[in-house]
Amino acid sequence: MSDVNRISRLGMVNAYLVSEDDGLTLIDTMIGGSAGKIIAGVKTSGAPIVRILLTHAHGDHVGSLDALKETLPEAEVIISTRDARLLAKDMSLDPDEPKDKLRGGYPGAETKPDRTVDPGERIGSLDVIAASGHTPGHVALLDRRDRTLYCGDVYSTLRGVATSATVYPRCPLALFTWHRPTELESARALRALEPARLAPGHGKVVESPLEAMERAIARGA
Ligand SMILES: [Zn+2]
Repeated sequence: MSDVNRISRLGMVNAYLVSEDDGLTLIDTMIGGSAGKIIAGVKTSGAPIVRILLTHAHGDHVGSLDALKETLPEAEVIISTRDARLLAKDMSLDPDEPKDKLRGGYPGAETKPDRTVDPGERIGSLDVIAASGHTPGHVALLDRRDRTLYCGDVYSTLRGVATSATVYPRCPLALFTWHRPTELESARALRALEPARLAPGHGKVVESPLEAMERAIARGA
């Protein structure tokens, strides 16, 4: 059984609390105005948020970062090295990156990350997994203890399991994807990790998601 601790606004936009020995890791901060809901979610779990870990710099994931950091000044804010630039509103692309337009909202934040990470690093029980495509520096987080995959926007489960490489009716996530071929490669790489459950930025948590992930990849290919 999943003991994934999801905080959600109407099932549409999610954040997650991951228990570690030293407290809680908050994955993503949802849209602006969500800090109160997140803090209320923490109260029931009884441990403090010691770090705030961002999958990517889109506004519906970093929207409540500043408000949370004000309430929780001790919490360590962590984002990938690449998306830290987008959080600082530096919209430049690297010479080796596709020259596609950066899509979706990048509102930035006053808060500066305390730490930047790269794929291959580990944060508590979470492995940082390369998942570029939706944004240049998007990362996913795999919990080594139970193989829960916090996939950010590589997959959504709003209208069934879907990648953000393909536009589906009523699941417009791909409209905000920077480079769809790279995103589809990341979707494949995440499937290869054989997660036990998928905990996305948008939609419900899905148990035993491998076949649904494969179908989503096939639709996008
Ligand atoms: Zn996004």
